Amino acid sequence: MNIILLGAPGAGKGTQAELICTHLSIPTISTGNIIRAALKSGTEMGLKAKSFMDEGKLVPDEVVIGIIKERLAEDDCANGFVLDGFPRTIPQAEALDAMGVVIDKVIDIEVPDENIVARMSGRRVCEKCGASYHLVYKKPENDGICNLCAGTLVQRKDDHPDTVMARLDVYHKETEPLKDYYSKQGKLAIVEGQEEIAETSALVLKEIEA
Ligand code: ADP
Ligand code: ZN
Repeated sequence: MNIILLGAPGAGKGTQAELICTHLSIPTISTGNIIRAALKSGTEMGLKAKSFMDEGKLVPDEVVIGIIKERLAEDDCANGFVLDGFPRTIPQAEALDAMGVVIDKVIDIEVPDENIVARMSGRRVCEKCGASYHLVYKKPENDGICNLCAGTLVQRKDDHPDTVMARLDVYHKETEPLKDYYSKQGKLAIVEGQEEIAETSALVLKEIEA
């Protein structure tokens, strides 16, 4: 099954993506994580992307489209995948269609804007492996330490309130039109993001099994 997760930054796409990939034994492909990894290892692409990311702007379409093309060609994608954070613009969605990639389902996780900023302020990520946590909704077993690799949990630079507002703006302008795009293809399912992660997960799994 080939799945796209849509939703505002902080809507919980990453968390739900992890759940789906465990459930269906398929990989999650997060363009955000791929770019952050490139940045950390200092590749040219990573350096190019940094300024856009830090300001809450989108990395240019041709860069992310290139990333996705390469990643989807890998063997582990043969039985399906979950896309988390791609596509984020209409040209990105068109590029995916042009590649001949058939998407089965697009799940949009809806969270009101007023809840997003509060959610984002509690978000923490593992410096080492990129796993995500939340001070309220998804606490690590030990404060400040990753459950998976014992790495240090930090706040992402682009999760600071000012940048979050910019990202929300970009989301409404550039990404939200994708709802219409996939609705016209008959693939869109909308899930209301709940306070409890497990409740959202139940709704997401219901859509996948529908
Ligand atoms: P979130 O889902 O919380 O917004 P991500 O980790 O998916 O965060 O993305 C972080 C940043 O990485 C974005 O603000 C953007 O700069 C860049 N990025 C990730 N995916 C894309 C994409 N598909 N197109 C353009 N930029 C992207
Ligand atoms: Zn970790």
